[in-house]
Amino acid sequence: MKRYNGWGDPAIDAKLPDSALKILENLAGPAKPAQNTPLEAILKKVPASRVTESHPCISFDAATRFEHAHGQSMPDWIAMRFGTLSAFPDGVALPATDSEAEDVFEFADRHQMTVIPYGGGTSVVGHLDIPESGAPVLSLSMEKMNKMIRLDPQNMLAEFGAGITGPELEKALHPHGFTLGHYPQSFDYSTLGGWVVTRSAGQQSLYYGRIEHLFAGGSMIMPAGKVSLPPFPASAAGPDLRHAVLGSEGRMGLLTRAAVRISGIPENDRIYGIFFPDWEAALSAVFRLANSDVPLSMIRLSNPSETYTNLFLAGHERQINLLKHYLRLRGLSENNWCMMLMGLIGPSTLYSSGKRMARKIIRKNGGIWTGSPMGDAWRKNRFRAPYLRNTLWDRGYAVDTLETATTWDRVTPTMNAVENAISGALDDIGEKVHVFTHLSHVYSSGSSIYTTYVFRLADSPEETFFRWRRIKDAASRAIVDNGGTISHQHGVGADHKAYVSAEKGEAGMIVLRGLLRAADPENRMNPGKLIDTANRKDGHEH
Ligand SMILES: Cc1cc2nc3c(=O)[nH]c(=O)nc-3n(C[C@H](O)[C@H](O)[C@H](O)COP(=O)(O)OP(=O)(O)OC[C@H]3O[C@@H](n4cnc5c(N)ncnc54)[C@H](O)[C@@H]3O)c2cc1C
Repeated sequence: MKRYNGWGDPAIDAKLPDSALKILENLAGPAKPAQNTPLEAILKKVPASRVTESHPCISFDAATRFEHAHGQSMPDWIAMRFGTLSAFPDGVALPATDSEAEDVFEFADRHQMTVIPYGGGTSVVGHLDIPESGAPVLSLSMEKMNKMIRLDPQNMLAEFGAGITGPELEKALHPHGFTLGHYPQSFDYSTLGGWVVTRSAGQQSLYYGRIEHLFAGGSMIMPAGKVSLPPFPASAAGPDLRHAVLGSEGRMGLLTRAAVRISGIPENDRIYGIFFPDWEAALSAVFRLANSDVPLSMIRLSNPSETYTNLFLAGHERQINLLKHYLRLRGLSENNWCMMLMGLIGPSTLYSSGKRMARKIIRKNGGIWTGSPMGDAWRKNRFRAPYLRNTLWDRGYAVDTLETATTWDRVTPTMNAVENAISGALDDIGEKVHVFTHLSHVYSSGSSIYTTYVFRLADSPEETFFRWRRIKDAASRAIVDNGGTISHQHGVGADHKAYVSAEKGEAGMIVLRGLLRAADPENRMNPGKLIDTANRKDGHEH
C-alpha cells in the first residue's frame, strides 16, 4: 500500500515532538495545519482516456492513472495535496514479460502515444511529469517485471527484471549469501531500472559503489530497436553503451532487464557516531578518511545547522541531554558541533585495523567517538526519515532537498553559497526558510553536498509553488555559479533541465541530443525531461 498523496505506507506515521515543533516555529515561522484534498475529489478530475482500444496489459482505470501521474517532487506534492494535478496518462501498461513489453510498444506506436517508463515513482525532480498537451500518454509500469532471472555466483552477477524494488531484490539474493548493497533512502519503493537510468547513489556506496559501478549490462527496448548490453567485466571496444543507458531517464527506451555485480554479505558492517568541535576540523578528518585505506561503507557529515536540527527532531530529550553533557565535558562547544556517522565494513582483520586507523584520524582532528548506538538507531530508521515529510506538511511546512557534488577545494564555499541562497530566497516577502546540510557521499577528490530546507506552505497552491520555485532557482544558480554538478544522485528530470547545459557545454549538448534522437527519432520517450531535443516532425523543442 502507498499513500495516495505523500510518502510511503499509510500505516506508518512519523511523530514530530511538540518541543521540535516549537523550535521549527521559531526558525521558519508558525504555520497553519494544511487542508488536504481527498482522493475521491482528485479522481473526479481524471478525464476520459483519449485511447479507446483495449489491451490485456493496459489499465484505463482512474485510480491507476492518477497513481502514475506523479512522482515525489515538490511540484508533485503541491498538486497532490492541493488537488490541482491536471495531467494524467491515458493508460497504464503493466507488462509481465519482455514480449508483453514489446507488444505494449507496438500498441503505443499504433496510437502514436508518448511513453513514460515508470519504476517506483520515487523521482524527486519531475521525471514522471505528464505533458499537458500533445500526443496521448502511456505510462509503462515495471511493477510486474520484478523477478530474479538468473543468479550467476561463478561470475558474481545476478540478472533481474528491471522493475524489482530494493526489498524484493535483497530478498532474492540474501538466502544465497549475496547482496547488491544498494540502499538509496527510497529503497522500499524505488526499482533497479529507476536506479540505473537516474544514476542513483546508495547510502553505503563508498564500499559497494554507485549504481554505475554495480550495473553490468542488460536489455533495452528503444523505438529504434532492441539493444543488448553484455556484462563484460571491462571493455575497450569504443564508448561503452552501458554509460549511455545510465542516466538516460526514460528518454532512450525501456530497460527491461539489468545484470548487476553482487557481493558476499560482509562479515562486519557497523556504523559509528562521532562529534567534531567545528566544521573545519570535521572536514579535515573526512578528507583524510576518504583518502585512507580504512574500509569505509559510508560517511555522513552534518554541518552545525543539521546537527542541531537532527538533535531537536529526534525528541529523546533525556538521552540528548546526557549526550550534550558528555560532549561539553569533553570540551566541545554546542554552537558548532558537527555530527558524523561513519560506516566500517569488511572481514574481521581488515575491519579491526581499519577501525584503529579511523579512530586515530578522528582523534587527531579533535573528534569525539560515541560508539555505535547512534549508528544503530540511524540504521534502524534509515528508510523512515522521509515519513517526516508527511507529518510536517500536515503541520503546514514543506520540506525539500537538493544536492550537488564538487571537488574538496569547493565543498565549503559551495555549501555556504547554496545555504545563503536558500535562506535569503524569500526575504523580500518576509518568509523565513530553515536550511541545513550534510555531506552524504565522499570520494577521494571531493564530496556530494546534500541540503534540506523547510518553509511555510502558503494558502494557495500557486503561492506555495512560487515560494518553492524561488528557492529552487536561487539554489540551482548558486550550484552552477560555484562549478558544482546540478545533481549528484537525483538526476535531471524536468526540474534541473535548465541547468544541464552549464556543465555539458554547447558541443556536449549536441552529442547528447544526437544520442537521444538516434534512440528515439520521433521523440516519443518521456519528452521534456533531461534535455530538450527538437522533434523532427513539428520542429519544436521538447
Ligand atoms: C524519500 C526519497 C529518498 C530518496 N533517496 C535517494 C537516495 O538515497 N539516492 C538516490 O540516488 N536517489 C534517491 N531518491 C530519488 C529516487 O528514489 C531515485 O531517483 C530512484 O533511482 C528512482 O527510481 P524509481 O524506480 O522510483 O524510478 P521512477 O521515479 O519511477 O522513474 C525515474 C525515471 O526513471 C525512468 N525509468 C524508471 N524505470 C525505468 C526503466 N525500467 N527503463 C527506463 N526508464 C525507467 C522514468 O521514466 C523516470 O524518468 C530518493 C527519493 C525519495 C522520494
